Amino acid sequence: TSKITPLIAGNWKMNGTTAALDELQALAKLLTTGEAPRAMVVLCPPATLLAPACAKTASAGILLGGQDCHAANSGAHTGDISAAMLADAGAQYVIVGHSERRADHGETSQMVCAKAEAALGASLLPIICVGETEAERDAGKAETVVEAQLLASIPSAADQLEIVVAYEPVWAIGTGRTPDVADITQMHARIRAILTDQFPTRGNTIKILYGGSLKPNNAREILGIEHVNGGLVGGASLLANDFYTIISSV
Ligand code: PEP
Repeated sequence: TSKITPLIAGNWKMNGTTAALDELQALAKLLTTGEAPRAMVVLCPPATLLAPACAKTASAGILLGGQDCHAANSGAHTGDISAAMLADAGAQYVIVGHSERRADHGETSQMVCAKAEAALGASLLPIICVGETEAERDAGKAETVVEAQLLASIPSAADQLEIVVAYEPVWAIGTGRTPDVADITQMHARIRAILTDQFPTRGNTIKILYGGSLKPNNAREILGIEHVNGGLVGGASLLANDFYTIISSV
């Protein structure tokens, strides 16, 4: 796994107007003046900021991503944004199946799979999110839930084209709580086993990110776990210094 280049992705969620581009500028400055990071850096701002963000991020090597896309390329879907539109606005990645989308918009794993296929069709790398709820973990079902989500959410094209998986236990998102190192270790090893079984060609090189209350003070420990190939960061990606500290922890 050491040959997998780590990736740190930031998810601004529904936060940020043009004023937030200053924070992005500050991040770009930290990345260009400090020691070159070992990790690839992807930032997923609200779609409204993708195009103006390009000017701030390009020289610092920060890649951009969307937070969701529609499964269709275009059409009568008021308010939705297609993968091709995200690509056109400067994105190279797109998060699909975030637990907030699954919960707020009733997205099923089948819908997530269709979105991931649309992303690949538009030459975007999908960051496919999975994760159990607290009740599911308490019931001892965390691994079976995550396995089912993985099998249904990842398109078969993942054996030919690059995708990213993010394991985000729902109860750790935005709560300040994280699983024990032993639990993250076990889940990421299980995800790796599923990926190599399902995708014999590419499964051992798919990046598996951890997400859920990843912070400057726990990043080094969590990002050092085997089969944790980077992180998906929500709240802590909003502040340039915090996000930079996490990036530098890899
Ligand atoms: C996320 O939304 O993907 C996330 C991990 O959020 P936070 O870091 O705020 O828990």
